[in-house]
Amino acid sequence: MEQQVEAPPTIAIIGAGIGGLALAIGLIKRNVPVTVYEAAAEFSSVGAGIGLGPNALNAMDLINPTFRERYEKIKTKNERPEFEHAVFDALYAEEGFGQKRGWNRGLIGAPYFTRSGAHRKDLLDIMMSFIPEGTVKFRKRVSLVEQVGDKVRIEFEDGTTETVSALIGADGVKGITRQVVLGDFAPHEVQPKFSGVSIFRGIIPIEKAREILGTHAGDAKFFLAKGKAVTVYPISQGREKNFVFFVEGPKPWLHGDNAIPCTKEDMVKDLGGFDDRLLKLLDYAKPLRWPTWHHPHTSTFFRGRVCLLGDVAHASTPYQAAGAGQGLEDAAVLSHLISVIKSPSEFEAAFRVYDSIRRPRAQKVVITSFEAGLIYTFRSLLRDDMNKIVENANQRLHWIWQHDLAADVRTAKDDFFRLVPEQPPAVPRHGRTTQ
Ligand SMILES: Cc1cc2nc3c(=O)[nH]c(=O)nc-3n(C[C@H](O)[C@H](O)[C@H](O)COP(=O)(O)OP(=O)(O)OC[C@H]3O[C@@H](n4cnc5c(N)ncnc54)[C@H](O)[C@@H]3O)c2cc1C
Repeated sequence: MEQQVEAPPTIAIIGAGIGGLALAIGLIKRNVPVTVYEAAAEFSSVGAGIGLGPNALNAMDLINPTFRERYEKIKTKNERPEFEHAVFDALYAEEGFGQKRGWNRGLIGAPYFTRSGAHRKDLLDIMMSFIPEGTVKFRKRVSLVEQVGDKVRIEFEDGTTETVSALIGADGVKGITRQVVLGDFAPHEVQPKFSGVSIFRGIIPIEKAREILGTHAGDAKFFLAKGKAVTVYPISQGREKNFVFFVEGPKPWLHGDNAIPCTKEDMVKDLGGFDDRLLKLLDYAKPLRWPTWHHPHTSTFFRGRVCLLGDVAHASTPYQAAGAGQGLEDAAVLSHLISVIKSPSEFEAAFRVYDSIRRPRAQKVVITSFEAGLIYTFRSLLRDDMNKIVENANQRLHWIWQHDLAADVRTAKDDFFRLVPEQPPAVPRHGRTTQ
């Protein structure tokens, strides 16, 4: 008997951040049509710097090998060869950076690890180079997502609507798609939780960083203190340094979703005890205090035809520099899975497999990142014992960096075909479809 042919699936992604664009690149590479809806008028470079480990680079390879090649051209390494394999050199933030205690260097890394980071704008630019014009629709803020039968209906703030076979929410830590997936099932998990730490951040030209930090300017450094820390690392192929100050509190966060204005004096007050050289970086900080959010637990990444990817699924604190890497891993697994879907009715099986493979690992990153934050701000049992902190850090990152993502992709496809056995090719009936 002849099989009837269904209409080809239509797929929408909400959010053109690193996660949403990575999925779009993976789908386009596999000839799967997709549309990305983005609320902003253009790309945002919020967060400024980004560090990516070997697992993130492997994910790029699996999404599209040329993606990794282009990243390799814009990536920024540590300046001095002795720091090449260090994600950070851990020092005390106190006056003298710990020299009075006899502390000079605390390399956190691995022989197989090569430090690499980039300005977010540069990363987004290379990502956009894979995406045909018109694929990303800017100024399209989604106001409502609802599943109607076997379709997903999307409403935009501008009054327009779209209906698709499946929707991927890549709309960031506060994204509305989390409500769609978890609202009925686990409503207490919908809103992200304040991690207890706020941040100040900025970018400084490398010449100015050298004037302030001297020989510490060219490489990635992590200066640690009780309840606070600052990470400083090169971006923009060495022309600039990105810095992020972490400060415990204010607890609870009572200022809504976004950053609140603050003065340099406010920041200096919070950073009491820091070496003056670090405080001088604050001249280049934005006068804002950002809360840091995370999703400590997520019961499922999908519901029906709506699936979560990136921070909306598993936002983590930034201490392991692994959040975007997890979004890239999501995109690698999901783009391969979606590429083997033959009909819209198979989306749910693909999302189920994606959830089973990606959620445990991504959630472990969220939890371990929070623990790392306690350790790096001397709030763990290791207190301010830098030898133990560096030893601990050198053990805790291998499982993130050395993960076999290609095996995940293979397992994902095997699991999918167990749920949805491969069918013989469908025969068109007089060129018409069933939908
Ligand atoms: C200070 C800091 C430092 C970090 N450092 C690192 C690091 O070194 N390495 C690393 O791997 N990770 C790092 N991270 C984490 C990383 O930034 C995130 O994991 C990553 O950017 C998340 O990407 P995303 O695409 O999931 O979400 P986002 O980047 O938040 O993108 C979501 C997009 O969706 C759009 N959107 C939202 N709602 C709607 C709507 N209703 N309709 C349409 N569009 C919508 C937004 O405008 C946005 O463009 C850091 C995070 C912070 C805060």
